[in-house]
Amino acid sequence: MEKTKIGVLGATGMVGQAIVQLLSGHPWFELSEVAASERSAGQRYGEAMASRWSMGPEVPDAAAGLTVKECTPDLDCDLVLSALDSSVAGGIEERFAKAGYAVSSNARNHRMEPDVPLLIPEINSEHLQLIGAQRKRTGWKGFIVTDPNCSTIAMCLALAPLAERFGIEKVMVTTMQALSGAGYPGVASTDALDNVIPFISGEEEKMQSEPLKILGKVSPAGVKEPRIEISAQCNRVPVRNGHTECISVKLSKAASEKEVIKAFREFRPLKGNGLPSAPDPPLVYLDSDLRPQPRLDAWSYRGMAVSIGRLRRCSVLDYKFVALSNNLIRGAAGAALLNAELLKSRGYLDH
Ligand code: NAP
Repeated sequence: MEKTKIGVLGATGMVGQAIVQLLSGHPWFELSEVAASERSAGQRYGEAMASRWSMGPEVPDAAAGLTVKECTPDLDCDLVLSALDSSVAGGIEERFAKAGYAVSSNARNHRMEPDVPLLIPEINSEHLQLIGAQRKRTGWKGFIVTDPNCSTIAMCLALAPLAERFGIEKVMVTTMQALSGAGYPGVASTDALDNVIPFISGEEEKMQSEPLKILGKVSPAGVKEPRIEISAQCNRVPVRNGHTECISVKLSKAASEKEVIKAFREFRPLKGNGLPSAPDPPLVYLDSDLRPQPRLDAWSYRGMAVSIGRLRRCSVLDYKFVALSNNLIRGAAGAALLNAELLKSRGYLDH
């Protein structure tokens, strides 16, 4: 298979460098361009990252020698993975899509537009059909697909098998989110250490709205959202990487504890699909009362699986449990890459 050339927008940030690392040795894709702001443009990627690289001992050789470009749509690639700050992502991604590039974005800007797929391949790959309507509306030769907010991805993956087997009516979630989720340099160390910050701008709103689009049924008319009430409380905690979520859920149909755990363990919708970054299984149910923990479980299945534990009865809703995922990988870089693999496998990157 000929490798598809990939450009990374926002390649110098927390998520961008995780994408660069994941692309090293990728069987389908080849990193051909790295781009960021004018502050970084013109430098070799290895030099630009000298004091910022945090994805292992060294910047991969294939990336280190690339010159960092500005984010203008004249890059030598077919698809761009966008890890841009949301203050600039919207317009830049649109310019790339207009110029004919496929854009797989981590940014929030286009997620809730009715004809932009908000994808989790294990849950809603059929939402790719929205691309047709998007191209018709915009007249773009390219297109934009997005991945959800990092906490939303983990919660939706955990909820998907329950929604499928039993139906879901209500969800309450409290998150403990890692510092790497705030980007680089992120939260000031004097604010973060020995502390919990009970506010992350926009996060609760995203966790309450995005799951409805993701779990919705798609048709040529758009996505019909299910009736699920969601209440989220989001906190920043002094953990380096890995978001933890305490989730309570009310089901539409009665289910025993054994049946709920079975639903988690049997959820393997991409089995045999051949997408290189797809974890199999995507959900790992752990029996120990002490799991999941960020330090022990954030790298489960190369950071792509969501770890779940502590399922028990909830005296207000039906069940409660704890879910954990790697916010940089499953919540961002790996999610955008998995979406790109889905696009390639479905022929959306063919010329
Ligand atoms: P970050 O560390 O702050 O990186 C931001 C990137 O955007 C850098 O490469 C930066 O380039 C670039 N940039 C900033 N201003 C620019 C401009 N005017 N023109 C071109 N490039 C510009 O942020 P991050 O944590 O990697 O997040 C990236 C995106 O992913 C955000 O939209 C974020 O909301 C989303 N996201 C992050 C996570 C996470 O866990 N961190 C999870 C899910 C989604 P310079 O280095 O040159 O300034």
